[in-house]
Amino acid sequence: MEPLPLFSLASETPNKVTPMMRQYLEIKHQYPDCILFFRLGDFYEMFEEDAKRGAKILGIALTHRNQTPMCGIPFHAVENYLAKLTEHGEKVAICEQLSDPSLPGIVKREVIRVVTPGTTFSENLLKTKENNFTIALFPKRDYFGLASIDVTTGTFLVTELHGYDELAGELHRLNPKECILPEELAEENLKTLLEAFSGLHVYSYPTHAAERSALPRISSQYSEVSTEYETLTQHFGVQSLEAFGIEKWPFAIQAAGMLLRYLKETQKTALSHLKRLKPYALQDYMMLDEATLRNLELTQNAHDGQKEGSLLEVLDGTSTAMGGRLLKSWILRPLTNREKIEERLEAVTWFYENSSLRDSLQQEIGKVLDLERVLSRLTLDRGTPRDLIALKLSLLQIPALKNSLKEAQPIRLKKIEEKLQPLPDLIALIESAILDDPPLGLKDGGFIKPGFNLELDELRSLSHEGKNFIQNLQKREIERTGISSLKVRYNRVFGYYIEISNGKLGQVPEDYIRKQTLVNAERFITPELKAYEEKVLSAEEKSKALEYELFKNVHLQIMEQLGWIQQNAEAIAELDVLLNLAEVAQRNRYVCPIFTQDNTFEIREGRHPVIEARSAANDFVPNDTIFNDSDQQIILLTGPNMSGKSTLLRQVALITLMAQIGGYVPAKTARLGLTDRIFTRVGASDNLLRGQSTFMVEMQEAAHILNNATDRSLIILDEVGRGTSTYDGVSIAWAILEYLHDRIGAKTLFATHYHELIAVAERLPRAKNFCVAVEETEARGVVFLHKIREGGIDKSYGIEVAKLAGLPSEVVQKAELILQDLEEGVLEKGIREQMKTVPGIDQGKLFDSAPEKSALITREQGRLTHPALERLKALDINRLTPLEALQALETLKKEGEK
Ligand code: ADP
Ligand code: MG
Repeated sequence: MEPLPLFSLASETPNKVTPMMRQYLEIKHQYPDCILFFRLGDFYEMFEEDAKRGAKILGIALTHRNQTPMCGIPFHAVENYLAKLTEHGEKVAICEQLSDPSLPGIVKREVIRVVTPGTTFSENLLKTKENNFTIALFPKRDYFGLASIDVTTGTFLVTELHGYDELAGELHRLNPKECILPEELAEENLKTLLEAFSGLHVYSYPTHAAERSALPRISSQYSEVSTEYETLTQHFGVQSLEAFGIEKWPFAIQAAGMLLRYLKETQKTALSHLKRLKPYALQDYMMLDEATLRNLELTQNAHDGQKEGSLLEVLDGTSTAMGGRLLKSWILRPLTNREKIEERLEAVTWFYENSSLRDSLQQEIGKVLDLERVLSRLTLDRGTPRDLIALKLSLLQIPALKNSLKEAQPIRLKKIEEKLQPLPDLIALIESAILDDPPLGLKDGGFIKPGFNLELDELRSLSHEGKNFIQNLQKREIERTGISSLKVRYNRVFGYYIEISNGKLGQVPEDYIRKQTLVNAERFITPELKAYEEKVLSAEEKSKALEYELFKNVHLQIMEQLGWIQQNAEAIAELDVLLNLAEVAQRNRYVCPIFTQDNTFEIREGRHPVIEARSAANDFVPNDTIFNDSDQQIILLTGPNMSGKSTLLRQVALITLMAQIGGYVPAKTARLGLTDRIFTRVGASDNLLRGQSTFMVEMQEAAHILNNATDRSLIILDEVGRGTSTYDGVSIAWAILEYLHDRIGAKTLFATHYHELIAVAERLPRAKNFCVAVEETEARGVVFLHKIREGGIDKSYGIEVAKLAGLPSEVVQKAELILQDLEEGVLEKGIREQMKTVPGIDQGKLFDSAPEKSALITREQGRLTHPALERLKALDINRLTPLEALQALETLKKEGEK
């Protein structure tokens, strides 16, 4: 055994450190940015600065030995402590004892892996239905190469992005735990953006030495000079990356190589389960920016970021963890390719219509365990016999799944059926080798089935016999010596011994050999005992070592089939999601959307999937939504607070999105043209992420929409312009509305409380006013019907809402009076603002009184044609409101120009 305490010699002879201290310092030197867990017997010890940080985060006692701060944690509880440290963004290097501590000399120690926030396998931190990504970013001006690896599942994704908006969206989708940036290229504002992303820990990582000179001149030749390119080709065992289709993405290659090296360094294994690298372009999917992802609450609610209240919660009834993860990625990346969408829909319909087939498949699939994580543990040498059993149980389901899909017509299901591989040899191997309910550990044996290996069986019976003999020995020795308290015991230092209490020492026989003196007793051995001990222990040692060998062997054979098993996992995940979408569709009375070639958009009796699911009374009021290119491209929606405007807006976005992931939708019918992007903006929403003023954010977001939307986009604008004064707000909203109408032609739903915009929408040929119906009766006051009807609303009902909310009646009455005053004045001013945009009208003191109104008309008369003049006369101008007068005038002028 090594001498403890560790550092005692250091202070006695200050110039010399103990050998173990030297070993510690050497290892620590290689891991300066990690907390080093230094294995000492049953503990991991931390020293110096590591100890201070560790003790603080873990809330454990910091002790000192000769001025060296230290603290330790028991090795068997390491997972909990690792979880805590990585959650705080610490990386932990785990340094193990690799030689037998009972041998003389210094124990050999080595770091066996580095645990980082992105690479934890802690059951406490890993969510079964979520990926745990580590990402690498390679920034170059406005472009980013992005690589993402989930070591726990073997997923490896790469892409290239342009601009911070795209980056923010991807971060939201991937929800990574850890990001590495090339040391030399990490700009401060990029770091700030990343660090503001909740739960993400950012580290710099040195770029490959050879890259530094190559970096500034990235050219078409780039891939040939790139060392990272070689990192990748070497890992995948290929000549070129052409087959992966990422040759054209130098930044992505850079990021991918860097990430692979980083993870190999931390995991200290070959990461052979990363068999493929999957490139994707944002353009392959429906573009959803970060604000939209958040506003639509697709996978997490806006309130606390949990799954509750999200679309995912409503749609997720997947039976496997793999299916859960896949469904999530489908929701975050809806398709834009009609053929692919329809392939999914076809499969969903198959299961929708065959509910008994669906039930039986779901039952079978429910027995499949998390194959991806099982495989990852196995490839990272962290697998246990229980993982093999999990693998076996999962593979056992495959023949039945395959069989059930035999008859399936849909092309997706045929592909899944082809992909599924029963692997009977592997099942048989595990079946014959591993006990059905093996112990957790790998080093202590006891998991190989009897009959699997002859030598093991012999060793086991040997050790069994020996144990029996030793047990009988106690009885025999008690009889022989007459000491009834005599005990045969075992510990790890002395092995077996006989313990005799002090009072009976006189009766100890001659042949006993004294080994140790305790306070109350002495410990002895006999040659016979030692002989059997030798037998038992060596048989036990040997059998443990043999079991480990046998495990490794089985493990190796499994690794040879890794690709097939991964393929099974993939097929099962997709099958699970398709089954689930059918099940959810039926349970929630969804319909199959129909895709049209043109830009048709017609939802009949659409419902909001989440609010509907959350209302217990089943009283959700459905609404129609129609867009077309002729007279209804923009829907301007007015209505009082709480009437259901925001709900309708989101409902339309969600239905569009659900259809394009290949799912059914909450409506009576839905005929949809393909949508390329969905934009949603919510007025005056706080964007804490970037720490900018709300109005600034709102305007940036509006700019983003106007610059990126196409006539195939769907735009949801909810109370945009609210973050500023009324006039600014109205003017901006107005201008945006016209721009969307005249220049972009995107399907737009615009909810607003600016009633001034109603007149604007009336003027624009492809804009239409809708409002949410409100019933106002003597008896019941204001009742929201949540029903949309054509036309603008004339009243905002804010005070009625205040009344409903229980504001004191005195306040309500006063507010009513103030409102009356204001409405008159504000309206006048609003008109004046509008007048500025009408050409040819004097902007002096207009409309302050009826005479002025008449004067204006008289003056304008000169510019009108005769028929228009006739019609003007027919109007009783003084009975019109100023706004109506203005509109009449404009209409007439337009007619006059013709
Ligand atoms: P607004 O945006 O007009 O202020 P919301 O869309 O936020 O109103 O709706 C307020 C509440 O009214 C929602 O939380 C929901 O409970 C209810 N609601 C909205 N639309 C409907 C509907 N179509 N059917 C039933 N309840 C609805
Ligand atoms: Mg609202």
